[in-house]
Amino acid sequence: MCALHSKVPAIKEIALVGGRLSLDFINTTNWVDNKPVDDRLTGYSQVLAWGCRVGLIHLDKARMPADPGTQEPDPRMERLRQFRHQLRQLFVCEQGPAPATLALFNQRLSQTSELAMKSAGNRLCFEYQDHDLSWLEAPVAYSAAELLISPLEKRVKQCPGTRCGWLFLDNSPNNRRRWCSMATCGNKHKAQQFYGRKKAK
Ligand SMILES: [Zn+2]
Repeated sequence: MCALHSKVPAIKEIALVGGRLSLDFINTTNWVDNKPVDDRLTGYSQVLAWGCRVGLIHLDKARMPADPGTQEPDPRMERLRQFRHQLRQLFVCEQGPAPATLALFNQRLSQTSELAMKSAGNRLCFEYQDHDLSWLEAPVAYSAAELLISPLEKRVKQCPGTRCGWLFLDNSPNNRRRWCSMATCGNKHKAQQFYGRKKAK
């Protein structure tokens, strides 16, 4: 593994800084020119790990796939990545979404009827189904829909960090948040500026 890639946190440690479920889902990969790079959803087990992380589902260790690094081809993954890409388009496309993008989004929204909740300790989560990913896609689609029709949609921003492209909801009082996180992209930018000034001297 190259040095750069080793710095990309795995799905279990990935920062949840989007401010909404739908934005955090889009941020499960980085983006360059609207294409995913350093994707953390490399397999179905990562999807389950993320679902548990954000509280959509609850799975005990016995039900988690044995090999978290597996990259076997899985038709559910292709569909999920396509959904994630289209979802991002809804937020970043200034001319409004293409009909195909909206159609795919509406399809995921309609899956809410298949959802069921269950008790997990002292809280609720969605019933996990192995045959599809409606437990993830429908709540994520609903989260996006809620944001898209809200005045807060204007506060969804894209991080300008190198090789980042994450989306986040700017909740700052003065609407001046620039970075997905100061701990990552913000600090990287500060360091670059510092060394740039030093070099110029
Ligand atoms: Zn960033």
